[in-house]
Amino acid sequence: MAIDKLPASHSPLDASKLVIHEATALKTIPESETLVFGQTTTDHMLVCTYHPVTGWSNPEIKPYGPLSLDPMSSCLQYATNVFEGMKAYVGPDGKPRLFRPDRNMKRLEGSAARVALPPFDSSELLKLIKRLVTLDARWIPTLPGYSLYIRPTIIGTRSALGVAASDEAILYVILSPTGPYFRTGPKPLSLLGISETARTWPGGTGGFKLGLNYTPGFLPQQIAAKQGYDQVLWLLGEENRITEVGAMNVFVVVKRDDGALDVITPTLDGTILPGITRASVLELTAAHPEKSVLPGLSPSTRLHVHERTIPMDQLLEWSSAGKLLEAFGVGTAVIVAPIGKIGFQDTSVTIPSYEKGLGPVGQGLYDRIWDIQTGKFEWQGWSVPVIEEK
Ligand SMILES: *Cc1c(COP(=O)(O)O)cnc(C)c1O
Repeated sequence: MAIDKLPASHSPLDASKLVIHEATALKTIPESETLVFGQTTTDHMLVCTYHPVTGWSNPEIKPYGPLSLDPMSSCLQYATNVFEGMKAYVGPDGKPRLFRPDRNMKRLEGSAARVALPPFDSSELLKLIKRLVTLDARWIPTLPGYSLYIRPTIIGTRSALGVAASDEAILYVILSPTGPYFRTGPKPLSLLGISETARTWPGGTGGFKLGLNYTPGFLPQQIAAKQGYDQVLWLLGEENRITEVGAMNVFVVVKRDDGALDVITPTLDGTILPGITRASVLELTAAHPEKSVLPGLSPSTRLHVHERTIPMDQLLEWSSAGKLLEAFGVGTAVIVAPIGKIGFQDTSVTIPSYEKGLGPVGQGLYDRIWDIQTGKFEWQGWSVPVIEEK
């Protein structure tokens, strides 16, 4: 599907036109330890609007606050809502950094195009995000595992009930300081394998970060929670192939007959969100041990990465043969989260690292990614300082 170009008469998104209205009273930053994911907002937000005749407005940074929307707004009626999830980190050198932000920008462009929201130049958006993070940099927590979550969002604001693409939009970016997913030490997730309701399907929109992909998952998540599980393992099709865990990509580590380890994640077939953490895990795993040894792993531990279908039967077979060593979910919020148990129909799978947290491969990946994110380990330019060196 082609991404539309902005008509020549429309103003493009232009970071050089930024107007900043600083908050007159700054908020008190809560103690890091009390932070709950996605509940605390910072002093400022970035807002830019798209008008069908003139194009993008001058971007504005202003005090965090409510938006005003017509009740007919496309996003309220037809879910024209796309977003990104990224983080700013501060490492030992005290510099705020982003992790592979160009990837988030490209993905947001793709998501907007998929629901026919107006196009924008994402390299300009990245400049604006850097300005916002710089202004609110005092909100980036510095404790290990803590960071500032960044939520770029685009909503359709066409105010008419006709079922049609929204030719008006608001692009905004908000920030929220956040702590590690597991506060009290690693607690492996228990998952309920669900195949009756699908998160996404072939030809659907699972490969894009659209608000509408998450809504149908709320009820199955409640059902799983009622049965004592932490999250849903989304299974798809007749062979119950594993797709994702909650809103995370999923990996399994399987022991091979030659002693090496297979590190496997489902193929990006359009039903799976192309996670930046997923891509990073694949690249770091492939780099071990020749280009870089993962922390805690021996250079003699051979890892083979695979993107392939994982039917539930295959997982049960690996498990009963004692070959399933690790399973984990990956995503920006968690980095790497251990999976301990999977309930499916009348069986259940227990992963050996259960109770212990991450296994060696998952832990090595977590440690390496965290060190790259905070600038402690330089790797392929993945960590981008927010304030460019002159
Ligand atoms: C955002 C998201 C992920 C993880 O993507 P990252 O870029 O690694 O944060 C995985 N699955 C779903 C459904 C998501 O929305």
